[in-house]
Amino acid sequence: MVDRQIRKRGICDPHVLDAMLTIPREEFVPHESRVSSYQDEPLQIGYGQSISQPYMTALMAELLELTGAETVLDVGGGSGYHAAVLGQLAARVISIEIIPALARQAEQNLSRTGLGAHITVVCGDGSQGWPAAAPYQGISVAAAAPEIPEALLAQLGDPGRLVIPVGDRFDQELRVVVKSGGVTSERVATFCRFVPLRGDAGWR
Ligand code: SAH
Repeated sequence: MVDRQIRKRGICDPHVLDAMLTIPREEFVPHESRVSSYQDEPLQIGYGQSISQPYMTALMAELLELTGAETVLDVGGGSGYHAAVLGQLAARVISIEIIPALARQAEQNLSRTGLGAHITVVCGDGSQGWPAAAPYQGISVAAAAPEIPEALLAQLGDPGRLVIPVGDRFDQELRVVVKSGGVTSERVATFCRFVPLRGDAGWR
């Protein structure tokens, strides 16, 4: 998976590659999908949601440019896999999931694999961020928003980087927002398709 789907497409941060190599993705997918764990596609995780394509998880993690000292907010916790990857790259991760059963599943997956040490899973509307642990030097959103939620921009630290898919329900651009020295800039990294962000600043 790492050689063919991730390294070849240009992901080169050694810490990201190492996390993708060592975290057992099969532990985060339903039992019947284990055989497909390392394929180049999103997988259903129940409740109409999916675990993102491995390449997308790697790309989003790389775009955050983490050094290991950061507090990161992971919006759309899902299976907990993306949080596990971020957990190896940052000091602390808050993973917020709006569907209670998935939040429980993420927590179970993280504790069963022993990867949850620096990760707190919370259940709530991540389109409003999670002010209790702000500011975040990194924010990663794994669901598509109509626009960048104000609350996330407000909770982004300086310096800080936010990665978020923005667009309509079927077609989005993956935007990277960088805050540095009081200046905020934005660029498009690629095009993508994520499940819709729900909640107050999502599609409701
Ligand atoms: N990162 C996950 C997959 C994300 S799928 C993984 O590695 O498995 C997107 C997730 O975002 C879904 O689980 C969905 O329930 C969740 N979600 C959607 N809107 C949300 C919101 N407003 N707040 C928190 N989670 C949300």
